[in-house]
Amino acid sequence: MASSYELCCRECGKRYENQPLSICDECFSPLEVRVDLDAAKKTVTRESIAQGPTNMWRYQALLPVPDDYVPQTPAGWTPLVKAPRLAGRIGAKNLYIKNDAVCMPTLSFKDRVVAVALANAQRFGFDTVGCSSTGNLANSVAAQAARLGLKTYILVPADLEAAKILNTQVYGANLIRIDGNYDHVNRLSSQIADRFSWGFVNVNLRPYYAEGSKTVGFEIAEQLSWRLPDNVVVPMAGGSLITKIRKAFKELIALGLVDAKDVRFFGAQATGCSPIARAVKTGADHIEPQRPSTIARSLAIGNPADGIYAAKAIRESGGWAEDVSDVEVVSGIQELAETEGIFTETAGGVTTAVTARLYAHGRIKPDELTVTCITGNGLKTTDVLAGAYEQSEAIRPRLTDFENYINEIKELNELVSGGVDVR
Ligand SMILES: *Cc1c(COP(=O)(O)O)cnc(C)c1O
Ligand SMILES: [Zn+2]
Repeated sequence: MASSYELCCRECGKRYENQPLSICDECFSPLEVRVDLDAAKKTVTRESIAQGPTNMWRYQALLPVPDDYVPQTPAGWTPLVKAPRLAGRIGAKNLYIKNDAVCMPTLSFKDRVVAVALANAQRFGFDTVGCSSTGNLANSVAAQAARLGLKTYILVPADLEAAKILNTQVYGANLIRIDGNYDHVNRLSSQIADRFSWGFVNVNLRPYYAEGSKTVGFEIAEQLSWRLPDNVVVPMAGGSLITKIRKAFKELIALGLVDAKDVRFFGAQATGCSPIARAVKTGADHIEPQRPSTIARSLAIGNPADGIYAAKAIRESGGWAEDVSDVEVVSGIQELAETEGIFTETAGGVTTAVTARLYAHGRIKPDELTVTCITGNGLKTTDVLAGAYEQSEAIRPRLTDFENYINEIKELNELVSGGVDVR
């Protein structure tokens, strides 16, 4: 059973009945969902959650969906794995990875936010939904809308990765490529949502959408046996995910499901689009928009909707933000794959490289329990690895050919230090 919830202005506190609305009509600040935690406290226990399904809907009582909502998409409940080999490389001792590279159905954490947004699209009676997207959101809206039989219009920057375009079109969505960057796409989407009365998951349904990200935080706590970590490292695009993981931890504390603890939040961006990291580093009280130029397309939002709230959350928590170059992003992808067997997309390369830097600079101490959030799958951004690996000549299927081949490699490795060690 879901608890009661409503919309509330983040700045002036004005309350609104549930409706497809994301901006306060009094002060033009963003609206947010408030779940009635006092009501939830009466029914939600560790045991009641444990009896729920092994997906994000085990936290249904803490999500903004109607009481009688029957979940349609089993997203979430992704692995939280200890990462000893990556830890060894970067000077960490107690490092975990929250692996949303394998979130279902479309291999990114966006499946969580879309599941909640589309539940509300249906509740409000929309037969057509859409989004503006840097790629992963497009994939997830297209897939989940197909399953629900909703019509779908998706707007993306024209230069998006081929895999992310294909992974949207295959579901039968109408994909509209816009000649511009994400911020142009997003502005147009707001105008379309008004004009056509469509449910845009990250525009007029945004307050509901954003709550889906809380499930990353709920899962981290439950998977640590109902404990909070010392630190969390989170990639930032619009800046929503990082604020919602923090909100999730606060809700769990308020509900008495975990002991109170001040968790530090660390934000990760690519230098080529780092407006939030910049604000944290300079101590600015506003976000200076940037024109994105980075291979980390899924994080390339130059004017982030929740940027100021993300910067504030990081600062209040005693955390920090870092940004890394595109070269470091690719190394981060390779390092995570080689040490932990997890193939992440560019956003995960950003997070891995930033995590390494936070240890190197002493911002995170080795013994602290740290969770780094890997949010998307490497199969969607293979273009950034093009040319990184040579293909050897094919050999004949004979043992002698294989032996010759191995001997050649050994000789080569003796010449080239740092090559593959073939014993
Ligand atoms: C969208 C996205 C993010 C960031 O999400 P925000 O809530 O907009 O900050 C991180 N990682 C990946 C892979 C994404 O697609
Ligand atoms: Zn307001």
